[in-house]
Amino acid sequence: MTEISRRELLKQAGFVLASSAVARAQTPAGQTRDWIYGARTLIAEAYNPPFYPSLDYEPEKAVRIAGSLNADGFRYPAASYYAYFPTKSGYPIHPELKGDPMRRTLELCREAGIKTVAYVPLNHPFMEVTSSDARFAGWSKKFGDGTPMTTAHYGFVRYYEGCLNSPVREVVRKLVREVLVEYPFDVMYFDGPYQGMQNARSYCHCEHCETAYEKRFGKPVPSQEEKVSHADEIQYTNWMANDVVIAFLREIRQMIRATRDVPVLYNDTSLLSKREWRNRAIPVVDGFMFEAAETPEEKLFNMQLGQSTGKVIWTYVGTHTQYNREHLKEERVRGWFSYPVESEELLLDGATAMAAGVGMVYWGLPRFFYQPRDPLAYDSGRYVKEVFDFQQKQWPLLRTLKPQPQAGIIVGDQTIDWYAGKTFVAKGYENAYHGAYQFLKANSYEAMPFLDWQMTPELLGRFPMIYAPNLACLSNAQCEMLRNYVSKGGRLLATHLTSVADEYGRVRKSFGLADLFGAEYLEPEPVEIPDLYLKADGADEIPQDPQIMRIRATTGEVLARTLDRGHRRDLGPAIVRQRVGSGEVVYIGSSLESVYEETRMKPLREWLGSLFSPWLASRQSYQVPFVPGVIPHFVASRDTLVLHLLADTGNKNKHLRAREEYVAVADVRARIRIPESRKVKSVSLLRAGQTLASEIRQGWLEVTVPRVYIHEAVRVDLV
Ligand SMILES: [Zn+2]
Repeated sequence: MTEISRRELLKQAGFVLASSAVARAQTPAGQTRDWIYGARTLIAEAYNPPFYPSLDYEPEKAVRIAGSLNADGFRYPAASYYAYFPTKSGYPIHPELKGDPMRRTLELCREAGIKTVAYVPLNHPFMEVTSSDARFAGWSKKFGDGTPMTTAHYGFVRYYEGCLNSPVREVVRKLVREVLVEYPFDVMYFDGPYQGMQNARSYCHCEHCETAYEKRFGKPVPSQEEKVSHADEIQYTNWMANDVVIAFLREIRQMIRATRDVPVLYNDTSLLSKREWRNRAIPVVDGFMFEAAETPEEKLFNMQLGQSTGKVIWTYVGTHTQYNREHLKEERVRGWFSYPVESEELLLDGATAMAAGVGMVYWGLPRFFYQPRDPLAYDSGRYVKEVFDFQQKQWPLLRTLKPQPQAGIIVGDQTIDWYAGKTFVAKGYENAYHGAYQFLKANSYEAMPFLDWQMTPELLGRFPMIYAPNLACLSNAQCEMLRNYVSKGGRLLATHLTSVADEYGRVRKSFGLADLFGAEYLEPEPVEIPDLYLKADGADEIPQDPQIMRIRATTGEVLARTLDRGHRRDLGPAIVRQRVGSGEVVYIGSSLESVYEETRMKPLREWLGSLFSPWLASRQSYQVPFVPGVIPHFVASRDTLVLHLLADTGNKNKHLRAREEYVAVADVRARIRIPESRKVKSVSLLRAGQTLASEIRQGWLEVTVPRVYIHEAVRVDLV
């Protein structure tokens, strides 16, 4: 990626800036727009105590807790299952609401110098099925037989899922307007828009949808009880996504712009879920939040995927749900919302967010609200404060640092939405793009993942190399973009199903990129056979993906073949390489990156690294010999280089979401390339705060980091 200045990022985010930092600091709106990048926000969550089912919330106590944790932002829930202010919008008000705790909270935050974020759910399920509110029947999503769709969410009761074509749309719009106009929030944050939750992919047959669909397409909403044609599926999906859901968010955004123009962020945690409407709404907002991730690698990946859009990114520190509950019959009942259950994971979560350079949001207030002592009397509270203190102290540096990726990884949102091959395992698909990311990191290369539908020639042009891991669905236009990218000198590493289908999953007669690959498939479906190996000239046998594409090389040079040991067969070419224009393409007919993600086998890491290293070595920023669990992350500004080391070295093993503690890693060696014509002024450890012994050899600075406990970073200042 060419260096993007902060100013360009802001421009991409749709912010019109005053010409100088001073002028910006004098305007409250400008201050907020600076603040959101590195925010330290405490969430008051309202789907659980102290807001729901019983309303115990006290503004004074809440703002005091925010202060103890060194939060500089507070997110108040205007509504969840109920509204928590005296609304006139028609949204149900919590029966125990007295006075206006929302207004009081805003006053207290202003006095404490804390920014405020309004949480407003956009059709998040809220209607209790046990309610006597007669309006709910007309607002809910319906199955073909008229039965309302319901969802469990947090497990207190069940809730009707609302339909955005029903009058609930107007109620939510009024709610947003009231919060925006009557209360001086600094930021509007939306959860949604939703069109259902557990039944998000079930078509709505409510009277409003049927009428609108008939008017638009001259036919009823297709029935999922019967076989829906692929054309109907595309038509309904695009209608609901674009004309109903995203149109609603756009309407809301325009209303805010025309009324009191504050930054708008939303929750896009389901970015990579199948047919997730909000994913495509990114251009409408100023930024978005990823909630929790299962691993630090996943979090770092998500943050970078978010940053590739040019928007402001926030993420959870901590989580409301990520604990193991395997023995529960009803998983949605979850565990504890109002107890400080987390521990050192908070430190790693915070360090990961900080390394990515994003805003942090701690979940949340409920963990301390009922506790008898100050938050700092508990491990969780001390860890949150430590994370927030570090972010505050280092933000002047962090805000100037940008990732320096050598490779772009295309993430197949179209593949997630539409690909339906017989051997395609949807839930395993993420192993391909996460594997690609890990593969590059393990070879000391930085990657920026981005979404397929955001692909442009300019975006591709930022990267010396593009990795297309198992990217089944690509449109003709996207194939053409990749063709142009390569012919102009780009390097493409494509694997497995890449380009077997168009953007809606319609399978082609040959790879859309067959000419680039120099290979054709024999069948569009891969085969699965046990005990396969890669045979390459001059290399030992390497474990091959047991799921392979059978291919025929046309114009490409065969670099490796597949050996089927059990049947003593040669299954033909496995990897082909071809020069195209001034660029080069390597096609791998299996998802070796998934195998790497699943096994982390050393021969794979090293041999496959040798395929792309020649393309990237001259641009390598650092080298860290592989240490299990240690994730390097390199960021830089003009005068400072920072190599983060995140040490995910704990006792989490078979049971994901079990609580985790960590052990320190000793003596991590690293080399950092010093840009030509620059000299090193100082080398230090960002967290320990001490100078670090170093040597320079042939343009590389060599250091040994004595101890990495959860996180450390090597800071190199240049002259
Ligand atoms: Zn409907």
